[in-house]
Amino acid sequence: MDVIVVGGGIGGLATAAFLQHRGLRARVYEQARTLRPVGAGIVLAPNAVRLLRRLGLTDALARRALKVRTGWEFRRWQDGAVLFSQDMTECENLYGEAAWLVHRADLVDVLLSAIDPGTLHLDHRCIGVRQSATHVTASFEGRPRALGDLVIAADGIHSPIRDSLIGRIPARDSGLCAWRAMIPAERLPDRCLSPTQTLWLGPGRHLVHYPVSAGRTVNVVAFTPASPGETVESWTAEGEPEDFRREFAGWAPPVGDLLDAVTEVSRWSVLDRSPLQEYVHGRVALLGDAAHPMLPFFAQGAGQAIEDAGALAAALLETEDLTTALAAYTRVRVPRTVQIQQASHDRAAVNHLPDGQGQKERDHAFTTRDSLRDSAWLYDYDAQAEAREALAAVAGRRRAMGGGVGG
Ligand SMILES: Cc1cc2nc3c(=O)[nH]c(=O)nc-3n(C[C@H](O)[C@H](O)[C@H](O)COP(=O)(O)OP(=O)(O)OC[C@H]3O[C@@H](n4cnc5c(N)ncnc54)[C@H](O)[C@@H]3O)c2cc1C
Repeated sequence: MDVIVVGGGIGGLATAAFLQHRGLRARVYEQARTLRPVGAGIVLAPNAVRLLRRLGLTDALARRALKVRTGWEFRRWQDGAVLFSQDMTECENLYGEAAWLVHRADLVDVLLSAIDPGTLHLDHRCIGVRQSATHVTASFEGRPRALGDLVIAADGIHSPIRDSLIGRIPARDSGLCAWRAMIPAERLPDRCLSPTQTLWLGPGRHLVHYPVSAGRTVNVVAFTPASPGETVESWTAEGEPEDFRREFAGWAPPVGDLLDAVTEVSRWSVLDRSPLQEYVHGRVALLGDAAHPMLPFFAQGAGQAIEDAGALAAALLETEDLTTALAAYTRVRVPRTVQIQQASHDRAAVNHLPDGQGQKERDHAFTTRDSLRDSAWLYDYDAQAEAREALAAVAGRRRAMGGGVGG
């Protein structure tokens, strides 16, 4: 098995790491010339950390990340009243793993350390894939083609490979724009530095913050109404700190502490896309944001890419029949990721309720939740075990129908 991975982000690197870890050949082709430290904060929940542990990466993660002490701490915009919070230290007892707060660049570095030297090819922009019954070829701008058994399209939210296979997924404007800033910890008071994933909820907008990079930096992400016609969807688009502050004028003092310290901010529009029903097209499998671009309100984008990678590798390692392995991948990953896409979609309206009856009911509902145990469906999930189960089911069905198609 010779696997070509297009995209050296979280999903692509994780895929290569899982495959190489078990002796399969995998090469990663990334369009960027260098892996610059791009991005900001990412929450890694137990469902993803469980898989990274199998790659032996949790010590490296611990050196660069922070364990979440309190998670999903929802606060009221006006006075900072805590509406809900979860003691995330319990995650280890309940789910066997902690949740971590990590800078995207640190996570990329940690994954890179698990990849065989010489298997990441930078400055390779994929411009097309062609497949036959026996192999698949990826073409790159100004570079030789790569030939393999399987292409993993881990080329992100704007996936050119996905677009070439099924056309562009129509993007709906969510009416929101996102803001993101990174603030050095020394510029902030202690109350902004605890390893808490804090979410401030207010009418039409919300703001999230938590420390990353072992506590040296605080990540701030916020969502506010977009301006008419605003459609740039890029993690690196620039915004104005003054505009950012204006969006949250009058909010409780800790929000002011954070925003007063912002000197640079990025701002982009948030687009929503409907789920796909199929992630595999012949010898090409979509993975991560290319397969299931999701609104960021459930903090699972990176986690789901890692789950995809672990599941795909588990399926490929269990059988030499590529068709069966890929059928199992789709069977197990589509329902799981669609559920999370939908949950992320629904969260926007709930987070942004205007003050009034609906908001009071939401805030009351927070008090009746059984906290962390409600998250078992998300955190207790073992993507590799599920993939092996799906594989057994697919292989059984194929046997019953008179045999599979070799690959
Ligand atoms: C610059 C950047 C910053 C981000 N910042 C954050 C953040 O702060 N917080 C957060 O939660 N999430 C962030 N994300 C998104 C997050 O990393 C993903 O949602 C998640 O990790 C899913 O990973 P992925 O591998 O599917 O996609 P990504 O991590 O987006 O990786 C896709 C990769 O594919 C490469 N690529 C695209 N087209 C081609 C091509 N034609 N040929 C070769 N390579 C190609 C891209 O350069 C990129 O490296 C960021 C993504 C990017 C690209």
